[in-house]
Parts: sequence; structure tokens; C-alpha cells
Amino acid sequence: MTQVEKARLLKLLYQYRAMGFEYFKEYKPVDSNNTMLPNDFFSLENSVNGCHLCNLSKIRKNVVFGEGNRNANLMFIGEGPRAGEDESGKVFVGRAGDILTNIIEKVLGLRRKDVYIANIVKCRTPENRVPTMEEASACKPYLIQQIEMIKPQIIVALGSTSFHHLTGEYNTPISNVRGEVLTLGNSKLIPTFCPYFLLRNPSSKKEVFQDMLKVKSLL
Ligand code: SF4
Repeated sequence: MTQVEKARLLKLLYQYRAMGFEYFKEYKPVDSNNTMLPNDFFSLENSVNGCHLCNLSKIRKNVVFGEGNRNANLMFIGEGPRAGEDESGKVFVGRAGDILTNIIEKVLGLRRKDVYIANIVKCRTPENRVPTMEEASACKPYLIQQIEMIKPQIIVALGSTSFHHLTGEYNTPISNVRGEVLTLGNSKLIPTFCPYFLLRNPSSKKEVFQDMLKVKSLL
């Protein structure tokens, strides 16, 4: 196209815009990592099992992918695996796992296999420290892909790390938002305290109980 032709075309486009036509479309940015990920559970789990995207791969015994009903209405998301999970490859085992199972069964009236449970990072951190931003960012596309495949009606963020990385609200303490009904994509998001926190602070179980009654009322 010559310069004169380009100038004529540009003039025409401006005239169309002056008449109210819109010819520029805004696209939402796409998470490029996610577009590369498999969209079936078997392949995604295989990819995660072979993942070395962050340093946690060097010290893990097992990747903890997550487990439960892949068509669940309700999804719980914690921070990351601890020793028991690292040993077994299972999500939320041991005493904290018992607390979560009790919440699901006794408060929500569901079976553990009815819900889906996953974590922000899928490999254990040294001495159970909070995952770094780099580790969480490297791992998050796997979780987002799980959420997109499960399409849960409600996501419960278990603890501040989960809430912070799901929402990007890194400066908001979990105590300020727990029990609120928020939106995350097409799901409702309800933050509450993590079962590991409840092991150290059993008096906070009453707040979690209230939050779970709210979850139950929305299911
Ligand atoms: Fe990969 Fe996530 Fe494990 Fe890091 S924590 S190695 S990103 S699976």
C-alpha cells in the first residue's frame, strides 16, 4: 500500500469513528502459561509430576497435585503440602487433614470425595515456610487450569497465602476478609482460616464454623 493509499484509509477510518463506528476491539490479556497447559486432568497431572519450574522440585519427595471430585461445586485451596503430604502425595493429611475432613463432613454434610482440594503450590517448602512469590507464581497456572476445568461454584481460600495469591490482595489480612462472599472469575470466593492455623489456635474454630455455614447456605 502506498503512502497516499494509507493516508486515504486512515482518513476513512477517522470518518467512520466520527460516525460512531468502533473498529478497535479490546482483548483481555490471556495467561500465556495456561494456554500451554493440557486441559484434561490426566495430562495435567503428568505435567505437574514432572515439573521443575521452581526450586521446590529439588527437595520434594512427591508432588501433591490435589484430589477429589472433578465436577465439584465446592473447592478448597490451601497454601501447600507439609511433611505428611510430601510423604504420601495426598492433599491435607494428618491432624490438619482431619480438621478439614470434619468441616466437610460434619458442618457441610458432604463427603470429602464430593469436593476438590488443592494448594497454591504443589511441592513442599523447606521447614514449611510460606512459598515465595516466585514459587507461587510458577505454580499458579496449574491451579488456575484445575479451577477452569472443575468450574466450582464456590472456592474456599484456606488461609492468607491462599487468599493473597488467588486475589492479588497481598496486603489484606485474612482476618479482615474471612467469611466474606467475594468473586473470583465465575466462582464465589469465601476466605477462612487454614486448618493448620486452627491446630495452633483452636478458639478460631468458631469463626470457621460460621464461615462454613455461609458456604453451606450458598451451595
Ligand atoms: Fe513445579 Fe509447582 Fe513444584 Fe514449583 S511447586 S516445582 S512450580 S509443581
